[in-house]
Amino acid sequence: GFNCGIVGLPNVGKSTLFNAVTRTANAQAANYPFCTIEPNVGRVAVPDERMEKINAIIKAKKIVPTFMEFVDIAGLVKGASRGEGLGNQFLGHIKQVDAIVHVVRCFEDSNITHVDGNTDPARDVDTINTELIYCDFETVTKSVDKMSRLLKNNDKKILISHECGLRLKDHLEQLKPARTFSVKNEDEEDYLKSLHLITKKQVLYAANVNENELADNGENSKHVKVLREIAHKEGAQVVVVSARLEEELGQLEPEDAQVYMDDLNIKESGLDRLIKAGYSILGLMTYFTAGVQEIRAWTIPKECKAPQAAGVIHSDFEKGFICAEVYAYDDLMRLGSEAKVKEAGLYRKEGRDYLCKDGDIMNFLFNV
Ligand code: GDP
Repeated sequence: GFNCGIVGLPNVGKSTLFNAVTRTANAQAANYPFCTIEPNVGRVAVPDERMEKINAIIKAKKIVPTFMEFVDIAGLVKGASRGEGLGNQFLGHIKQVDAIVHVVRCFEDSNITHVDGNTDPARDVDTINTELIYCDFETVTKSVDKMSRLLKNNDKKILISHECGLRLKDHLEQLKPARTFSVKNEDEEDYLKSLHLITKKQVLYAANVNENELADNGENSKHVKVLREIAHKEGAQVVVVSARLEEELGQLEPEDAQVYMDDLNIKESGLDRLIKAGYSILGLMTYFTAGVQEIRAWTIPKECKAPQAAGVIHSDFEKGFICAEVYAYDDLMRLGSEAKVKEAGLYRKEGRDYLCKDGDIMNFLFNV
């Protein structure tokens, strides 16, 4: 599955948020019990209003969402890249994830110790990002050293990688993330990919605020403002959440939770927003299968051809792929029924080169 790693300094609310995301998200998607793969890995249903809307037309026996995973990566502290605390082990975990949710403390609370004394998002973001860049620097240094030993073989790929690695080292040394490094050609791109650098992964910032700062999406919090400016420069998103509120909501009956949310003037669950944003930075999209048995959402990468999409359901669908019958969610909504979509000539047969679109409703024909 695709996953987002939750990182941040100690005591910023990572575990609280992780627990809330994994429990609540699944309690809401009834029938899909919270699933802990490992103590720090949780599988969550991706909220998607379109499934209910398809169901209003097709009326299936059940609705099955698609899932993603969150990984709680604790223990990142200043000096982690130099092996402080359990640093290196945790950095190893971050290397495995597909994208990063960086939780930043934007709440003030004198009862909750801050490792550096006070709430200061700019300093905190910098501390974490510096550690991640150091870690990548190590990775690239090791790779460049290996390449230098192989230079004598006069292999073109090695020469390109070596040269690219040296530039990359220089870039990281200036405390810039790998995300902003420009490659010169496809070979360099391949090399960069092969390194699995942490600061190359997409990141989104979760601004953890107190309950009372949530109503205007954090507009009144000076800390959220600072974080937004940082994120804006990096082209990253900010999701404003209150981990503690979400934890509290998760312990209430749904009706009571709604009353509480109305009191605080909150429209959408912060967790839904966080999961959706996480799904989107992973570069994923969703297609549906829709029949009377079930309406189901499936996850595919943004660039995905029809056979590959079929393979997400079952590898046999991909192997024996003949064609896909496809229509668009938007057309179904606009026209009101599958029959009308067919009448309008919008129910198409597509072949192996078809590039899927988000919201496609698909049925695959295949040889067994
Ligand atoms: P982690 O070390 O980043 O995983 O942090 P935790 O999730 O364990 O939270 C540390 C402490 O901060 C706990 O006592 C939480 O209850 C508290 N906390 C988390 N989120 C908030 C919040 O939004 N506001 C306040 N005041 N406290 C919070």
